Amino acid sequence: MYELPEKLKNLTPYVPVTGQYRIRLDANESYLTAPGWLRQELAAAIEKLDFNRYPDPYTVELCQKFADFFDVLPSQVVAGNGSDELIGLIVSSFTSTGEDMVVVNPDFSMYSFYAQMNGVRVHTFQKPELALDADALIAFAKERAAKLVVLSNPCNPTSLAASQADVLKIVEELSDRLVVIDEAYMDFAEGSILRIAPRHDNLIVLKTCSKAFGMAAIRLGFAVAGTQITLALKAAKSPYNVNSMTQAAGCVLLSHPDYLRGCTEQIKTSRTELYQKILALAKEKAEILEVADTCANFVFLQMLDARRVFDALSARGIIVRLMAPRLRITAGTAEENREVVGALREILD
Ligand SMILES: *Cc1c(COP(=O)(O)O)cnc(C)c1O
Repeated sequence: MYELPEKLKNLTPYVPVTGQYRIRLDANESYLTAPGWLRQELAAAIEKLDFNRYPDPYTVELCQKFADFFDVLPSQVVAGNGSDELIGLIVSSFTSTGEDMVVVNPDFSMYSFYAQMNGVRVHTFQKPELALDADALIAFAKERAAKLVVLSNPCNPTSLAASQADVLKIVEELSDRLVVIDEAYMDFAEGSILRIAPRHDNLIVLKTCSKAFGMAAIRLGFAVAGTQITLALKAAKSPYNVNSMTQAAGCVLLSHPDYLRGCTEQIKTSRTELYQKILALAKEKAEILEVADTCANFVFLQMLDARRVFDALSARGIIVRLMAPRLRITAGTAEENREVVGALREILD
């Protein structure tokens, strides 16, 4: 009789929110959908593809466009099928079974998921406060002999950003291990280390098109690092990991830097609006215990009974992310922000 490997036995497929919701503020997606002119350019680019041919394994044109946008060298960039794929690739190729890896909590759950799949021991650095204490994390990683340290900055779900100085300190103090800084939300914040990433031979910075750029559907992410690491990533990845349609769409998208910066600004305006509305509500309602400052496109708030509020929002057709005792609410359109805050007010009245 065939028996599943131990690590698969208790694994269940990732279940995104299903069901019909009027307002979806649960996944930190952009609320801006591609405008007509962009759709036409995307369609035209895809129409030209040689569908019988394999994609470019090194995504040369795409990496060039990304490099132009972010002011790095194309040789320092590797594209992935979402940054998710790159996280999995990094964990599986830069660590071995039985080795140690450090993640922080709360943070993005995929890091430890891939560690488990690869038999890598996860040591979780519990943040006593929502903000990250860089010195404590450095000491923790050294004690655990971690080969790999991964964190998001700004952090999902706390919405807080560590300073550039703190992040560089982590990279430099842990210079004999690999540090991965996931900058999925850095478009909305200050303190990116993307441009200077290649100067550090133990650092990978991750980017995604799924958040500020509003292209979660195409699955496109990037890793930026020095030459030694980019070459290793290119060698370790599966050859045709980014399909031709995604490469073509990414090239079109990154050819419009002003449009992308405009989208980012609109989303920042929306999240500040949402943050201020929630902050004002928190002044009236004792049930809202804490609202974290936001450096991302979502607001993270602690409640007396987050589950009750989550259920009541769902019943009104509004889906947010429950991380009891907290809720994470993605910034939406002005109307969606008004609705979610109005609903919160009703629920708490
Ligand atoms: C959303 C998110 C990503 C994006 O992943 P993709 O696979 O590129 O869509 C990566 N890291 C963090 C922390 C995120 O929240």
